Amino acid sequence: MDYEKLINCMRCGMCLPHCPTYKETFLETASPRGRVALVRKFQKGDLAASERFLDYLSLCLDCQACASACPCGVNAGELVAEFKCEKKERDGLSFMEELVLRRLLPHPDRLETAASPLKLYQRSGLQKVVRKLGLLKMFPPGLSRMEGLLPELPAQPLRRTLQEVTPAQGEERGTVGFFLGCVMSLVFSEASFATVQLLSAMGYRVITPKAQKCCGAPNMLAADRRGMEEMARFNVELFSSYDLDFIVTDCGGCGAELKKYGHHLGGDGHAAVFSGKVRDISQVLYEGRGLLGEKLKPLPHRVTYHDPCHIAHCQGIRHEPRQLLKMIPGLDYRELADADACCGSAGTYNIERPEMADRVLRRKLDTVLKTGADYLVTSNPGCLLQLKQALAQTEPQVRVIHLTELLQASMNG
Ligand code: SF4
Ligand code: SF4
Repeated sequence: MDYEKLINCMRCGMCLPHCPTYKETFLETASPRGRVALVRKFQKGDLAASERFLDYLSLCLDCQACASACPCGVNAGELVAEFKCEKKERDGLSFMEELVLRRLLPHPDRLETAASPLKLYQRSGLQKVVRKLGLLKMFPPGLSRMEGLLPELPAQPLRRTLQEVTPAQGEERGTVGFFLGCVMSLVFSEASFATVQLLSAMGYRVITPKAQKCCGAPNMLAADRRGMEEMARFNVELFSSYDLDFIVTDCGGCGAELKKYGHHLGGDGHAAVFSGKVRDISQVLYEGRGLLGEKLKPLPHRVTYHDPCHIAHCQGIRHEPRQLLKMIPGLDYRELADADACCGSAGTYNIERPEMADRVLRRKLDTVLKTGADYLVTSNPGCLLQLKQALAQTEPQVRVIHLTELLQASMNG
């Protein structure tokens, strides 16, 4: 761990009001400043890695709101993640982690096969019966929560149905590679299909290399740096074999990870070039807004936007998605209070720390309802899962939708 990053904290406390766990607890140990101090004490040998100590650190959502707020460039979330990686390198992966992170995730075919029973569970009507009879209460808490988050899966993952090359419509302005995230392909295939259609309509030839692997973000969440690096190397080599202007993604989590490949793989020049080409879809569409604006037709909806942490805090993108929404004629855009506050999803945090995740989510839902919007737009699969499920249960009149789906709906009139 880079000790410099730890000592940069001057204990000013400017990060405190931005940290979701501190806002809920008002505990120093649940704040960015407190977490930095804990890791610093551990590094100096003044503190042991006791269960309590690890519990304090694992309460961090890694939302990186503290990094956006800190005047000294301290990123408490990243420091906690680094600490966990170092610990995992010493302890090794558990059997389940080895199975999921090393044997399943790097193989899209296996991942898709593993998702098939879920589709059968939904399409056979079993899911409806289980939910209606309240049988979920009989499942272990983590499993019932995961089941509750599961939206209706598409008939086929997009990776299987999308052509490797989607031609540009009209005059060709360039070639982009499309990084299709695992969850986007398996769960939100309509949104990613809309992304490719938009790129094509903007004059881009879109190449979606079918062999691409997971970006490695789930590995980093589980503190498996080696697993992430293996997939990063593979993806860099694969995309480098094409002549691409940009590498585009519509998944906030993937985008944040892909932009860090250059840093993660250090001396690998290809990785730095790869990361330099990565763009969130909102950046590419905003750049071509002149052409896009001509194609958009009215949508009479009240719309608000939730900033995914991986887009706002990790990639610094806030302006583009909002401006794209405001370009839709007839759309009534309503700004969300604390729009860049975490929704509590945070990878698998909502499964592992359900109590805190629900408290953080409640704040988000309250602000959404105050806008009076009938559509909540966002662009990260974790946020989509979390907010879709919560609003379907409590406020079904508010629909949650990916940015590109709404733009495509406007384009199609
Ligand atoms: S992490 Fe940054 S904002 Fe927070 S107390 Fe330290 S220096 Fe201040
Ligand atoms: S990453 Fe988020 S939860 Fe963790 S310390 Fe920073 S603001 Fe708090």
